[in-house]
Amino acid sequence: MSEIKLLDKQTASKIAAGEVIERPAGVLKELIENSLDAGADIVNIDIEKAGKTLIRVSDNGKGIEEEDLPKTILRHTTSKINDFEDLNNLNTFGFRGEALFSVAAISKVSITSCRRGQSGAKISAEAGKITARTKAPSIAGTAVEARDLFFNTPARLKFLKSDSVERAHLLQAAEEAALANPEVAFNVKVDGVKVYNLPPQQNTEEGLRKRTAKILGEDLAQTLLYIEDETYGLRAFVSPADKLIAARDSQFFFINRRPVGAKILQQAVYKAYQPYRAKDKHPAVILFMQLPPVDFDVNIHPQKKEIKFMEESAVYNFICKKISAAVLRQSHAEQLAGAAAPQPVPEP
Ligand code: ADP
Ligand code: MG
Repeated sequence: MSEIKLLDKQTASKIAAGEVIERPAGVLKELIENSLDAGADIVNIDIEKAGKTLIRVSDNGKGIEEEDLPKTILRHTTSKINDFEDLNNLNTFGFRGEALFSVAAISKVSITSCRRGQSGAKISAEAGKITARTKAPSIAGTAVEARDLFFNTPARLKFLKSDSVERAHLLQAAEEAALANPEVAFNVKVDGVKVYNLPPQQNTEEGLRKRTAKILGEDLAQTLLYIEDETYGLRAFVSPADKLIAARDSQFFFINRRPVGAKILQQAVYKAYQPYRAKDKHPAVILFMQLPPVDFDVNIHPQKKEIKFMEESAVYNFICKKISAAVLRQSHAEQLAGAAAPQPVPEP
């Protein structure tokens, strides 16, 4: 007797959605990326009950045509590529057309949007099925609301961690986006309370430091050393040797503005601090690299997170060397200043 059967559409889409969206933070990350792809320079985020009851992202981006609204939640629907060749000159975060499909498949979604100079429209959907289409105020931009996450996939809902853990993941997603996109204003509310109110900054050392100060704290941000190098488009803020911190969670790595996990980068950082570091102390690191897509591979993890460099050891050596040099220069300068400071100024 035949054992192999085709899954029904609903089951298949729930499975596919689960691969894209593991937890509330995954929804938030996708919605923020869509806002950035739409050219928004203001992104407002509302989170309720650790994202389990509500994740809302609104933006002032280019908006969605009214007739396109229902298409956004279909699978493989995207405005960002037309064919396979387009993948070669892509400068958006998304292109698979799976995010809104996935979010819609496991929640109750509403999308309100308006293009500049046109009238606004709204669609609502439950478990991927459209339940309402209405007019909406003409406010340019888009707001996407995902309510009751995983309401139709109870097994996944049970799999979620405590509210405090899920909230931490959500905030991390917002913080990563805010660090990588200093020109964009971000406002984040959690259970009605303002958590972040980040005005736009220039994408310069000064602007990045201001943005960093809002996220890691003013005191810490002021101490960080800045490193810039044309090689690999490196820009980084790192702790000076004598200002290492107790927590390991102030470490952010970005390749082409995407947050990534890269063991090799972390190892290079720790190697640079080896001469100065007590076991329970860690550097703060915010590190950006710009690389041509052929120089690294992001496909080894379904969430696009863990990446692999083509020239692993060259990257490792470079990052280690750059950070070592900056840290050493700073500690030398401190020693010199320390030796010079107590000298009394001679009377003329
Ligand atoms: P992808 O980002 O891979 O194209 P998504 O499922 O994330 O796919 O979104 C589908 C489409 O919906 C996008 O290609 C875009 O045209 C539109 N869209 C989604 N969010 C927004 C937004 N905030 N502003 C403007 N358009 C959006
Ligand atoms: Mg997208």
